[in-house]
Amino acid sequence: MDTRIGFGWDSHAFKKGVPLRIGGLTLQHPEGLAGHSDGDVLLHAITDALLGAVAAGDIGSFFPPGDPRWKDADSAIFLNLALEELQHAGYRIVNVDTTLVLAAPKISPIAGEMRTRVADLLGIDIDQVSIKAKTPEGLNADTVAQCHAVAMVERVQEPEDLKSMSAVIESQRQLEDVVEDLLTSVHGVPKKRVGTPVYDTEDIT
Ligand SMILES: [Zn+2]
Repeated sequence: MDTRIGFGWDSHAFKKGVPLRIGGLTLQHPEGLAGHSDGDVLLHAITDALLGAVAAGDIGSFFPPGDPRWKDADSAIFLNLALEELQHAGYRIVNVDTTLVLAAPKISPIAGEMRTRVADLLGIDIDQVSIKAKTPEGLNADTVAQCHAVAMVERVQEPEDLKSMSAVIESQRQLEDVVEDLLTSVHGVPKKRVGTPVYDTEDIT
């Protein structure tokens, strides 16, 4: 199996008067995260982890902070770009693990909802997404939210339709062998293709 790993880290300062967006959710809190976009520290860290896994640069190289197009942008846009880069490189996500570091609000009561949202955005199952949170003990960083993320990706093998196609071809061969063996034992006819097959490919799938 051809796997690669990527790491991402991000931080944003808390700021009054803006909504708090983390993991694609809007959380009830007196302050949000300052940023050119919506400041979603979790999605930014995951975006960088995915880009890093296929050595495709980082979020800043695709979305320069000064670009007015990304003012207050939904960070799901950045995540989508990372997914496109991943697919372009021929990889898909195995799993994503993250750790948020912030004094408040408490993440554990909403971690399940957040995992569901992030899994939806990434097009993977919830058990492929982990979201953990810690308070910044001893860091004197209560006014900042940070996030660390790692992503494991694997090379996409042949497309699924090719796989099922070759499976059908294999079972056709086996069936032909069985039919020929039966004909030989019952009628004593030599092993060769006789008439039309007694099955069609529709029945084999
Ligand atoms: Zn950011």
